[in-house]
Amino acid sequence: MSNEDSAETIAALDAAKAKYAEERAKRLRADGANQWQDFSGEYKDFDRDPYVEPGFTRDALTEEVEVVIVGAGFGGMLAAAQLRQQGITNFRIIDKAGDFGGTWYWNRYPGAMCDVESYCYLPMLEETGYIPTQKYAQAPEIFAYCQLFGRHFGIYDNALFQTEVSGMEWHEDTQRWVTTTSRGDAITSKFTVIVGGVLHKAKLPAIPGIKNFKGEGFHTSRWDYEYTGGNAYGGMTNLADKRVGVIGTGATAVQVVPKLAADCKELFVFQRTPAAVGVRNQGDTDVEWFKSLKPGWQIERIRNFTEAVSGKQPEVNLVGDSWTEMYWTDTKQLGATPEEQLALEELDFQNMEKIRHRIADIIEDPETAERMKPWYGQYCKRLCFHDDYLPAFNRPNVHLVDTEGRGVDHITENAVVVDGVEYPVDLLIYASGFEVTSDYHHRLGFDPKGRGGVSLSEAWGEGPYTLHGVMSDGFPNMLMISTLQGGFGTNFVHYLTETSKHVVYIIKMCLDEGIAQIEPTRDAEEGWFMELLSHVMGMANYNTTCTPGYMNREGEAGDMKAARGLSYMGSVGDYAKHLENWREEGKLTGVEVVRAK
Ligand code: NDP
Repeated sequence: MSNEDSAETIAALDAAKAKYAEERAKRLRADGANQWQDFSGEYKDFDRDPYVEPGFTRDALTEEVEVVIVGAGFGGMLAAAQLRQQGITNFRIIDKAGDFGGTWYWNRYPGAMCDVESYCYLPMLEETGYIPTQKYAQAPEIFAYCQLFGRHFGIYDNALFQTEVSGMEWHEDTQRWVTTTSRGDAITSKFTVIVGGVLHKAKLPAIPGIKNFKGEGFHTSRWDYEYTGGNAYGGMTNLADKRVGVIGTGATAVQVVPKLAADCKELFVFQRTPAAVGVRNQGDTDVEWFKSLKPGWQIERIRNFTEAVSGKQPEVNLVGDSWTEMYWTDTKQLGATPEEQLALEELDFQNMEKIRHRIADIIEDPETAERMKPWYGQYCKRLCFHDDYLPAFNRPNVHLVDTEGRGVDHITENAVVVDGVEYPVDLLIYASGFEVTSDYHHRLGFDPKGRGGVSLSEAWGEGPYTLHGVMSDGFPNMLMISTLQGGFGTNFVHYLTETSKHVVYIIKMCLDEGIAQIEPTRDAEEGWFMELLSHVMGMANYNTTCTPGYMNREGEAGDMKAARGLSYMGSVGDYAKHLENWREEGKLTGVEVVRAK
């Protein structure tokens, strides 16, 4: 680079940094991570499950099993399938939903799909023999796959649906957990596996007046097709004469807006922070290619994708999509030299410039285009990839209402108010996301009581203590699969696959070796926390440049409790290596066990 080029680059970066800081400052709020309202109290109506017939009843169960799994999404399903593969069949899997699927049970909004390639995202494709129909599977196909998975592994008989866990208590005398539920069940087990609480508890923005709105209103994860007509593919004929408002422009809104735009009379999209939307390139599966894949292909592809989106630059890029292109270099790392740092920042800036230029190229109205440009780095929010979102704003019936980073002011009986202007709507849709950083027991909806009757919320009053995010001292035989001190990645199912394997290994080992109790030592937990801290520096710095969101705890500085709640910031592959090493070492490092008498 010549001196002139370099000066130009530095000037462009400085200008972008100033713009990023300005946009961040506009959005910082005193109520930070507390700006949300959950579906409790007077908002309980929002939590109705629209996908089941009301009035389901069954007799309460009192029974003893080897394992209770809480959560029947992909994590719980993977644990259940692997337990069965290990010959452990005496377990229960409990979920408040009416079927398997977790996220994919609840999120049936029009346009819902997975933005990670289906060949990497849908787990155990080699075992089930299923061939995804498209590169990016749509929600109905994913939900149907969850059902197929349940049938294939014979885990429906183990399931208790429409059942909420209300309590979980360790009994020292019997060395057993007792799990109680909303249906009066009391299930005794040697082990519990908790796989809940990630993008599970929907939230509403605490906008004044939500309760006053007299029109129809619901969260995207509780879609009311009775009102809109149609299904997840669209065709919402009931909206032809309706004015619809959408609050939020995150990954969900990006998928739902094109479908609403096509079907409703008028659509108002209330934007606080614009999404970064790259190229999708959907395509049908080449069945011949799929059938030609050699055994072992899926885990190889999954690992390759994770390496590619973790900046590890594998020799081949098997997936070759926009994710792998944008995350090929991990730009949130701290550069070893000022030149390297500059190169990382420039690459991040150039990637985001492509996204900003795409907006200007597609959106016809220059003012709308300008308002839709995301001014933050590529790791600040979940990137979106969609080919129909931006063009939707060229339709005459679609109106962007940009709130200049402030959010909606308030809601009246029939309108959304921004900057003193009323936008009357018949239907108001909250695309406002899910709790990510609230306390674990709050997201779970119950507070496990461990040794001596000490609850998890008490034990973790100063933040979580875990080994690998999986076990916690004071809670013997309770195994967790969550992002708290556990892994996190673009393909979340990769993380679930690796961690469920580990959890099932621990259970099987304990049963085979007559281990009645297993739990980590405090020293081992502190060692794990140090390991977590060693990966966090680049991201911590990077986060301070981002507009607020759940990735940076809404821009709050955070205390020790928040710091302890971090995830493993290396790649899922590196996280899995820690688990694998622990298993292969075979020395039960960092845990104490009590053998059965
Ligand atoms: P998000 O939390 O990402 O988005 C919530 C949106 O609501 C944001 O745009 C937010 O603005 C906006 N908002 C909040 N308060 C207000 C307010 N007062 N006025 C106006 N707007 C407001 O939720 P999503 O459901 O979109 O996505 C959640 C996660 O689900 C994703 O990050 C992703 O991990 C996952 N997901 C994955 C998909 C996939 O394909 N794999 C698809 C969809 C979702 P602001 O940005 O300013 O906070």
